Amino acid sequence: MSKTGKRPTPLSSATASIVTQVRSQRGFDRTAVWIFDLDNTLYPPECRLFLQIDQRMGEFIQRLLGVSFEQAQHLRKTYYRQFGTTLSGLMKVHRVSPGPFLDYVHDIDLTAIAPDARLRTSIERLEGRRLIFTNGSRRHAERVAERVGILDLFEDICSIETCDYTPKPTAAAFDRMIARHGVSAAHSAMFEDMPLNLEVPHALGMTTVLVHDEAGDNPWRVGHAVAKSAAPDYIHHMTTDLAAFLDELPAPSTGATPRGDQGADDGPR
Ligand SMILES: [Mg+2]
Repeated sequence: MSKTGKRPTPLSSATASIVTQVRSQRGFDRTAVWIFDLDNTLYPPECRLFLQIDQRMGEFIQRLLGVSFEQAQHLRKTYYRQFGTTLSGLMKVHRVSPGPFLDYVHDIDLTAIAPDARLRTSIERLEGRRLIFTNGSRRHAERVAERVGILDLFEDICSIETCDYTPKPTAAAFDRMIARHGVSAAHSAMFEDMPLNLEVPHALGMTTVLVHDEAGDNPWRVGHAVAKSAAPDYIHHMTTDLAAFLDELPAPSTGATPRGDQGADDGPR
């Protein structure tokens, strides 16, 4: 995918190495639910949406608390590290109502995102259920996925509102997603750009895929160096090209379980 909207070159022997299987013990032969993170997973980090969100979170805190932008940014980073997300910190420490915060920080310019026909084709061919699971708001996920041109391919969006504002990577967030959407972890695959967000789904029995890139714009992104040299055990597969990775997957076998036959939570904890 490219910012110019030009169709990318097809997967060749030169680019085949971008599809890296790190661990072979859990593949996709049982996958009936395809779960995708949104930001920097379903569009490239070069779009730098997080820089806009980052700026607006700082502005929100600046206005809320009447502090300088620098002080606001310091607080934001502190809350991110301490509570997992800036919003969690604001809710717990300052009793901030999440709706106005989410509306403000996600009111961003999406023109950097180009429609991605190649990714659309790759996702469309996946048999089974497809979900977006994001720490962002539902409205943000809808806007972004619409812009990419893939919104209609997904059954639903599990947003931060759906999870009662409990974010990934906590086990509680995954438990809520699984319960709300009737997902069987053992029959699911999770695609993410944040390595730490794959630890819990791995423990639950999901197949895990790290979609990574050198040019991440999230200043707290963890794991590039770790993932490249010695990926943690909870990452089964890695790719820098999600569409190519999906295209390389073997055709589904009869082992996948359709919706309705899944246990509510039959994966190992
Ligand atoms: Mg992400």
